Amino acid sequence: MEFKEVYCANCKKTLGRYNIKFYDDDKISELFKTTHSVHVRQGHEVIIKKIKKN
Ligand SMILES: [Zn+2]
Repeated sequence: MEFKEVYCANCKKTLGRYNIKFYDDDKISELFKTTHSVHVRQGHEVIIKKIKKN
């Protein structure tokens, strides 16, 4: 399975992992505006990594 991992470089922590089957780019950007907006608003560098897990 493939996941998108949302990681904050400033807080040095993973904010969430999302199965790409259920979370397309639109849904991820939606999360940036809602769930993870605290980091974005503070100007943190939030990055998306693709990870594979079996
Ligand atoms: Zn942060």
